[in-house]
Amino acid sequence: MSVWEYAPAPESRDIANLKPSYRPFVNGEFTDGNGEPLKSINPATEEVLAEVGTASPSDVDTAVKAARRAYSRVWGPMPGAERAKYLFRIARLIQERSRELAVLESLDNGKPIKESRDSDVPTAAAHFFYHAGWADKLDYAGLGPDPKPLGVAGQIIPWNFPLLMLAWKIAPALATGNTVVLKPAETTPLTALVFAEICQQAELPPGVVNILPGAGDIGREIVEHADIDKIAFTGSSEVGKLIQRQVAGTRKRLTLELGGKAANVVFSDAALDQAVEGIVNGIFFNQGHVCCAGSRLLAQESIVDELLEKLRYRVSTMRIGDPLDKNTDIGAINSQEQLTKIRELVESGDSEGAQRWTSPCPVPDRGFFFAPTVFSHVEQSMRIAREEIFGPVLSVLTFRTPAEAVTKANNTPYGLSAGIWTEKGSRILWMANQLRAGVVWANTFNRFDPAAPFGGYRESGFGREGGRTGLEAYLDA
Ligand code: NAP
Ligand code: MG
Repeated sequence: MSVWEYAPAPESRDIANLKPSYRPFVNGEFTDGNGEPLKSINPATEEVLAEVGTASPSDVDTAVKAARRAYSRVWGPMPGAERAKYLFRIARLIQERSRELAVLESLDNGKPIKESRDSDVPTAAAHFFYHAGWADKLDYAGLGPDPKPLGVAGQIIPWNFPLLMLAWKIAPALATGNTVVLKPAETTPLTALVFAEICQQAELPPGVVNILPGAGDIGREIVEHADIDKIAFTGSSEVGKLIQRQVAGTRKRLTLELGGKAANVVFSDAALDQAVEGIVNGIFFNQGHVCCAGSRLLAQESIVDELLEKLRYRVSTMRIGDPLDKNTDIGAINSQEQLTKIRELVESGDSEGAQRWTSPCPVPDRGFFFAPTVFSHVEQSMRIAREEIFGPVLSVLTFRTPAEAVTKANNTPYGLSAGIWTEKGSRILWMANQLRAGVVWANTFNRFDPAAPFGGYRESGFGREGGRTGLEAYLDA
């Protein structure tokens, strides 16, 4: 039997320009934070990548003051057409440094280079290009004749798409004339601090963007700071609820983008091979660390066996391993903590009686990895059908009629996204209307575009990011 040898990716780790240490970015400069430094690791090897200085509560105050000054003296009064130039410059610089950012993101997060290179980094640049276009057209956004910025935005982002979530938050805030204090996640702070260098390169006025690495307590300090006008949070529903309680009764505006448990619904008339690709993309993209992941497959009963057979074959061809290898489909789980959570939920699937299939692909013996897993015979009451696993684990349920598909799809406290696979246009429209989900994809999955608003219902949060609607979250209309 011949053994395939794949060539290494041209994206060598030298391109990441990894530095031994990184520091918080306040008022246009890198400063020594007063918090305990943290170590960011490469989850694929467990090696320390760099030491990162963190913020203390007093640094939060300094950053908010800098953002307030920049807002009232420079950024708020600046004409939109001038602000746009900075956003265009930032977008171009992200493109210029895209290989560096992609390799650094894969090192720090564990995601495959083909995803950071072809998805995260270009989409981050696209968000700045898109919002640059809005900066001088806000009077025509349908939000009143002269909408005003809110002021200083506190922004807290998770570890699953570090640079992309930063772009989703910072681009609309800046385009609308707000200034920003942003906290990246503890396990993935590095690309946010390279983004801070990009702000310097773009000669963005000091204080417009401030980046404060730190743990959850620094997120809480930002949320509680009296001089913040708006909080934008992406992360777990648990922390989202906490933040909502803290903000209640204050004048602060709030948007929350939280978890999900999306249904990906496949009807018997769907093009099955195409659906299999969509299912794979829906749950195995980014190791399943995706809030809108299609983690519940709802298959029509008459085709479930055929679909599962095709799916298992396809998943068994996926390669798991070195995130910097361009042939890798599934990289590393972001942290030991997340790996433990995935294992615990998978064990609950076993003990509650679902049937587990695990891809026979070889798994590296170092680093945090989890082989792609498909559970069939899943009941709606099982934890693997109700809770967000946030890993490469798919739960398969079945249905007979469209009405049953809708009931099962909506049987979740979440409501972020859903997928529909069918040849019938009328059924797509009917289903999309019935599904309580912020985004519904038809005959595709996990498509992102800065022009399309994204956000959830119920425990998936509220407010929209992207598109014209997304501007509303940063404007007083
Ligand atoms: P998380 O705890 O909600 O973290 C999200 C962000 O909030 C991080 O920057 C975190 O800082 C910060 N944070 C933590 N506690 C905070 C507090 N009390 N006040 C303000 N900010 C706070 O989420 P996680 O622990 O990374 O992941 C847990 C689960 O959340 C996942 O398993 C998944 O189910 C879900 N999740 C959803 C999304 C999404 O895109 N919707 C993204 C990530 C995770 P630290 O990094 O220091 O903890
Ligand atoms: Mg890391």
